[in-house]
Amino acid sequence: MYSSAFTCSEGCSPVRIPLDEIVYRCPACRGLLDVTHDIDALRDRSAAAWMRLFDERYMRSAWPYGSGVWGKKEWVFPQLANENVVSLFEGGTNLFWADRWGRSVGLADLWVKQCGVSHTGSFKDLGMTVLVSAVKEMIARGRTVRAVACASTGDTSAALSAYAAAAGIPAVVFLPRGKISTAQLVQPLANGARVLAIDGDFDACMALVQETCEKNGLYLANSMNPLRIEGQKTVAIEIAQQFDWQLPDWVVIPGGNLGNVSALGRGFEMMIALGLVAKRPRICVAQAERANPLYESYLKGFADFTPMTAGETVASAIRIGNPVSVGRAIRTLRVFDGVVEQATEDELANAAASADRGGMFNCPHTGVALAALLKLVARGLVKKSDRVVVVSTAHGLKFSEFKVGYHEAKLPGVAATHANRPIDVAAKYADVRDAVLRGLDG
Ligand SMILES: *Cc1c(COP(=O)(O)O)cnc(C)c1O
Repeated sequence: MYSSAFTCSEGCSPVRIPLDEIVYRCPACRGLLDVTHDIDALRDRSAAAWMRLFDERYMRSAWPYGSGVWGKKEWVFPQLANENVVSLFEGGTNLFWADRWGRSVGLADLWVKQCGVSHTGSFKDLGMTVLVSAVKEMIARGRTVRAVACASTGDTSAALSAYAAAAGIPAVVFLPRGKISTAQLVQPLANGARVLAIDGDFDACMALVQETCEKNGLYLANSMNPLRIEGQKTVAIEIAQQFDWQLPDWVVIPGGNLGNVSALGRGFEMMIALGLVAKRPRICVAQAERANPLYESYLKGFADFTPMTAGETVASAIRIGNPVSVGRAIRTLRVFDGVVEQATEDELANAAASADRGGMFNCPHTGVALAALLKLVARGLVKKSDRVVVVSTAHGLKFSEFKVGYHEAKLPGVAATHANRPIDVAAKYADVRDAVLRGLDG
């Protein structure tokens, strides 16, 4: 039968650890763990049969397979008992054809994968459904898990809190005080999580949550935990599925802790290994200039990597100076002929706003990816006819301070060239008519 286990991501030893063990690092080398599947067992179905199975289930109601993640359960967590799945019908997100905006920037085939159109408003739901399901199964088997905990730049904590609440498992979240949006703060509060507003940055929260989990029997829900990567990798499979099992030429993805780019790579690799697709897309990781350690490393051909203290950026979910999955990310970029780009505050905010004029409502991180894409087009690396997918990581509505600040032209370092303001009008027809018609036909 199908099976999966934790293995060393550095390949130091052939150790295989069951997925219901509480373990985050290789016992031999302390490297991160991967989840490794028995690919030979999965070959008992042909590529065509897998595609048919995934298509039959996609967004239907046969629980839990209608979920974008659990519709691929055999590739994600085959041995999990269905009664322990904690699903909020995640995945199945809109692949937006950015036809008009794409053409305006010289691209004929641009798509935006709207991962933020999801239960808690970000792609983090894809990973959290897997992690919380694993915890539910551990508890069902008699293991003691006092609570699940994470450090977060806002979206991980929202997803963890929602899934934990749905499963009735206590959640504790560590947030950098004053560095997340109002919506992101209120989400875990609403779900009844214990919310610690730490006087420090994300990297400090990350160190503290690891120590707290290790010493007190809490389960760590950060993306160093590869169960989350398993869920997130389904976005790669879903993109292929939405293009009738074709892959794009390029995928552009904003990166902070660098779990998601690793997940994307794993999804593509698994489809190649099982014969569903043949070619690899190229991948671009996009970083905010103020939190760009991977970009700096890329400029040196990844010869070394130096963590940094991340600076102030409106792209707060990727304000990370010491990304935990950097090794995984560099391995992924090497395999996918990848590049790394960066965007300033001005570039990311104006790219987001410009694309909003094409019908989107972009969060700042999606803005980083869009700004990076514009640079790749300008450099001729991405060609007009290339099929490009930009991974939009969160819903713009979670970042209303950013959106309002932009349109009020109040974001530091940003010349808001697409700002749009409400027009105050008296309740009189003549004034209304003038306001409506001014400049309309010219
Ligand atoms: C978490 C997050 C990212 C970054 O993903 P990583 O896996 O940390 O690289 C990007 N955008 C948003 C909105 C996020 O919540």
